[in-house]
Amino acid sequence: MQNKGPYYITTAIAYTSGKPHIGNSYEIVMADAIARHKRQQGFEVFFQTGTDEHGQKVEEKAGAEGISPKEFVDRIAGIIRGICDSLNVSYDKFIRTTDADHEVQIQKIFKKMYDKGDIYKGAYEGLYCTPCESFWTESQLVDGKCPDCGREVKPAKEEAYFFKMSKYADRLMKYYDEHPEFIQPVSRKNEMVNNFLKPGLQDLCVSRTSFKWGIPVTFDEKHVVYVWLDALSNYITGIGYDADGNSSDLY
Ligand SMILES: [Zn+2]
Repeated sequence: MQNKGPYYITTAIAYTSGKPHIGNSYEIVMADAIARHKRQQGFEVFFQTGTDEHGQKVEEKAGAEGISPKEFVDRIAGIIRGICDSLNVSYDKFIRTTDADHEVQIQKIFKKMYDKGDIYKGAYEGLYCTPCESFWTESQLVDGKCPDCGREVKPAKEEAYFFKMSKYADRLMKYYDEHPEFIQPVSRKNEMVNNFLKPGLQDLCVSRTSFKWGIPVTFDEKHVVYVWLDALSNYITGIGYDADGNSSDLY
């Protein structure tokens, strides 16, 4: 059969703060169906799924069980991978954000973005619950109190690094206009454009100091990187992106 070229398909990666739910299976079974269909058509398919394993919730859950975060995520990631295998999902790679090669790349990506001026140091502001060591937004509060323990919260600031997402709004709008097929279906594209891009993108908090279970910033080790730059980068680190290398080497 004629090789129709590379076809890369991924799913969202499951967060390991607890047992997976039916939605994780739903998404991966649909992605599996597409991957199998594309292979039959002669595409050189690379199908990636995996787990997002850092963050405060994981650290808290592990602490409550008296085990390390790594022991905790090893167990949950094992359960999630086991579900994929029991459904006979034909993934080519199961990435974990605690994989050493992923973590090294995240550190390099962070440094590269910082050196280019796309990441700057600022202050994260929110409503803080001291016993829970957690920041909340106004809308997360329950009766004006901490949603976890019900105690008073008070406004607080924490040093953090931010990604200059605001800088990219115009560039994204232009790209979506020139490539109408880029986000499908169009209803989702409209939702994205109308709810996020048009009101103006906010800079994104990409590091924290109030918990430890993340990837340390190499040049400022009290900061850890989690979810945004960490988990989202799995789609490029999983196929061999090297921040120091040539990105044309990608799958
Ligand atoms: Zn609390």
